[in-house]
Amino acid sequence: MIVGAGPTGLFGAYYAGFRGLSTAVVDSLPEAGGQVTAMYPEKMIYDVGGFAAVRGRDLVKGLVEQAAPFEPAYLLGRKAEGLAHTEDGVDVTLDGGQVVRAGAVLITAGIGEFTPRPLPAGDGWLGRGMVHFVPALDVHAGQDVVVVGGGDSAFDWVIALHPIARSVTLVHRRARFRAAESIVGQARALGTRIITDAEVIAMRDDEDGGLAEVEIEAKEEGTVVLPAQTVVAALGFTADLGPIENWGLEIDHRSIAVDTTMATARERVYAAGDVAAYPGKVKLIATGFGEAATAVNNIAVLLDPQAHLFPGHSSNDG
Ligand SMILES: Cc1cc2nc3c(=O)[nH]c(=O)nc-3n(C[C@H](O)[C@H](O)[C@H](O)COP(=O)(O)OP(=O)(O)OC[C@H]3O[C@@H](n4cnc5c(N)ncnc54)[C@H](O)[C@@H]3O)c2cc1C
Repeated sequence: MIVGAGPTGLFGAYYAGFRGLSTAVVDSLPEAGGQVTAMYPEKMIYDVGGFAAVRGRDLVKGLVEQAAPFEPAYLLGRKAEGLAHTEDGVDVTLDGGQVVRAGAVLITAGIGEFTPRPLPAGDGWLGRGMVHFVPALDVHAGQDVVVVGGGDSAFDWVIALHPIARSVTLVHRRARFRAAESIVGQARALGTRIITDAEVIAMRDDEDGGLAEVEIEAKEEGTVVLPAQTVVAALGFTADLGPIENWGLEIDHRSIAVDTTMATARERVYAAGDVAAYPGKVKLIATGFGEAATAVNNIAVLLDPQAHLFPGHSSNDG
């Protein structure tokens, strides 16, 4: 059983299949891919081995394809809530009460469940014109888009939407940005209208009930009304390990302590990826891949003591 369908969990699902194990992968998000899918599907990633550059969504697609021959059972939109040991395994309870019985659990919960920070004026507009993430760019073709926020994600969306939207405006409540200077420079070079020291104070619909315009109160410009069919509220997020905190593991700063086999303090429970901690840990996709392989190979031996820890070379299997 794998808890978390981010890059680490997906690679773990491939690896479990390669080791002849059957796997269920649960994730509270509706799509696989963890932080990559939710936060930066359109960004290029430059530090995954074997790819000089790979777009986030393409990396996730490749990971899903790689695991597919082993038919992992995806339980998406479901949260892992409870963990209990049985005589020879572990029961993981999902929201709704369903119990998944497994020989071992690999927790790849990343930074936990992430909840976007709310835009106060957007109360009631989520799904009616306001979004927190932009999973697909093309639905915004020809739209007027207002992006709210001053971090990397806000500027990412501005740059990604620029070629296809009718207009893109960035609104930020401070004068300075958290985003890297280079990315702010790119947005400015595109001629993006950037309104700082400003807050969205109202969102209004047209007669069909769709979002039509937003009202902004800006320090210098005063009241500004912008046409908008989409508001991207990119104000960051809070992350929370939630129920996993109560699974009797050694947890510090939202990270689970593991040994060199990726085993946690509880029998049959392993962790890998962003959520796993040990001295010298570096939280990267590449690290998560290696940790998933280590965890699954050790789980394979736990479940079958006759099995070898070293899996053999996949290149011999073709
Ligand atoms: C903007 C941005 C850019 C980045 N760029 C890079 C980069 O260029 N290179 C790089 O290596 N890394 C980058 N990272 C970091 C990288 O995305 C993470 O290291 C990676 O996503 C970790 O993968 P993971 O599978 O361990 O965890 P995550 O991707 O966080 O996935 C964990 C999954 O577990 C799920 N989950 C958590 N708790 C539960 C539960 N109780 N029940 C069910 N599901 C649960 C979550 O919903 C989530 O989908 C970036 C991160 C961000 C935010």
